[in-house]
Amino acid sequence: MSLPVTADCDEVRQQVSDWKRSGERVAFVPTMGNLHEGHLQLVRAARKSAGRVLVSIFVNPLQFDNADDLSAYPRTLKQDADALAALHVDLLYTPSAQSIYPQGLEQHTRVTVPRLGDILCGAHREGHFAGVSTIVCKLFNQVQPHTAVFGEKDFQQLALIRKMVTDLAMPIKIIGVPTMREADGLAMSSRNLYLSDSERQQATKLYQVLQKVRSALLNDDQDYDGLQKTAIASLQNAAIYPEYVEILRQSDLHKARPQQDSKLVIVVAAKVGKARLIDNLQVNLNESPSP
Ligand code: AMP
Repeated sequence: MSLPVTADCDEVRQQVSDWKRSGERVAFVPTMGNLHEGHLQLVRAARKSAGRVLVSIFVNPLQFDNADDLSAYPRTLKQDADALAALHVDLLYTPSAQSIYPQGLEQHTRVTVPRLGDILCGAHREGHFAGVSTIVCKLFNQVQPHTAVFGEKDFQQLALIRKMVTDLAMPIKIIGVPTMREADGLAMSSRNLYLSDSERQQATKLYQVLQKVRSALLNDDQDYDGLQKTAIASLQNAAIYPEYVEILRQSDLHKARPQQDSKLVIVVAAKVGKARLIDNLQVNLNESPSP
């Protein structure tokens, strides 16, 4: 199965406009590569939303706050292309950093989303979300898809992109896809590669803690601050170093209010060894608790 690949934005534009001229819908899946089953789920969702699927692989230097993290980021283009070919992806776009940022990072226009870009991971990774919103905006302008697909694994990122698209009136439908997990619950992530065997074991604690908080919430525990503190302590006891554990409203990522908000999300970011991992779990308080 052959997969057309291009690093040239003009070719992408030409192909997409040909598809559109023949009445086809185009779905776009932006990634940083090192594809795992989570990414492939996005591709499958893209296929459901449109006849043509375009995937990009670009390790975006603007969203890294640490040069070592950027240079260590796994790059596995050959394997990624094989996986995308097997799913019959129509076009893979692999722009160079030089073509995206021809005058360097400093000189490039930034798109920033207030508050949603500054809280949680934004507070711990300076400039990260400006890097994300800028590259996603630019890729949207280059590709001009009908739909674009993102993972709920990066819940804050998904909220930020939805807000950017609404605020800037971009005619693109954003589709969120549930998090794919390993058999023991760990959310799939390219960064899991950084875990040693023992850290990989410890990392399962993240999902366990999220599940504990979720079941407490479903059992009507209303001490949200207490739940957060307990969750942080139990991560620390497992030699995991949490940056935050928060119980928020899904709609806008404001602090959830007991007895007022019902659609919640528990978000966590933590260091396990060298890896910085994030995860989240949605909770709908109108659901009955699981047995
Ligand atoms: P990345 O390559 O890490 O920038 O991720 C590209 C896209 O894949 C983003 O929309 C992520 O939210 C999504 N993604 C990453 N991991 C997962 C996962 N385990 N399940 C679902 N989507 C994911």
